[in-house]
Amino acid sequence: MRPQFSMCLKKKIIIKIGQRALFLTRSFILVVFVLSGSVVMAEKADYEKLRKQMVEEQIYARGVRDENVLEAMARVKRHVFVPQNVRAFAYEDHPLPIGYGQTISQPFVVAYMTELLNLQGSEKVLEIGTGSGYQAAILGETAKEVYTIEIVEGLAVSAKALLKKLGYKNIHVKYGDGYAGWPEVAPFDAIIVTAAPKEIPPKLVEQLKVGGRMVVPVGSFFQSLYVVTKTEDGIVKKDVLPVRFVPMVHGEN
Ligand code: SAH
Repeated sequence: MRPQFSMCLKKKIIIKIGQRALFLTRSFILVVFVLSGSVVMAEKADYEKLRKQMVEEQIYARGVRDENVLEAMARVKRHVFVPQNVRAFAYEDHPLPIGYGQTISQPFVVAYMTELLNLQGSEKVLEIGTGSGYQAAILGETAKEVYTIEIVEGLAVSAKALLKKLGYKNIHVKYGDGYAGWPEVAPFDAIIVTAAPKEIPPKLVEQLKVGGRMVVPVGSFFQSLYVVTKTEDGIVKKDVLPVRFVPMVHGEN
């Protein structure tokens, strides 16, 4: 009888230990879950706050007044467009590296260039230099259709995937050379170039509608941001700001 009794007790002890271990594991998982949830929530609130601050202190304060542009800048999560290692700086007042030696422009420059396009919401827009896809997202919020071309394949592929994941159905990304424009879908109501060519690319002027606007940084070391308006007789150029963009490179063909 005795050995039988001790077996029973042993079994009970083992079950008790098992139950206790299960309880501790479950509690631990719950604590980790709650903590990580609150970290995510805190991060979300911080980014929202930083984005609002960015719009007020860097963009509105410098004179951008287009309501649609201000709203888009407050809505689009800039931090998801930059690499993890610079995410904490996503809402600061300067450009950031996005890989392949390229950069995402300073938030003010993105807002200012978009405002210069004078979009009403019904336009078909061409962007040269997709990069991270951030400027394209701002255009996706302020225009009807966005066509964007990127010459670095890795950037074109990742921007396309990210914009799709974010749900933008009106943004079309193409890997290719922006100097050729996108003749299959031209003409465009507006064109924005986010890399600097040495001269205004003639094919882009061709693909702009009469009355349409192109915003383009032109130059090498010293660059100026131009607003180019197409007229029946040619173009009218206005120099609006000294800028510093990465060069618009030529493709192999
Ligand atoms: N608009 C981007 C940043 C642009 S950086 C954003 O919001 O993140 C400039 C981009 O222009 C780079 O990604 C660069 O690879 C691209 N680029 C340079 N020359 C080009 C060309 N000829 N055609 C298309 N893209 C070009």
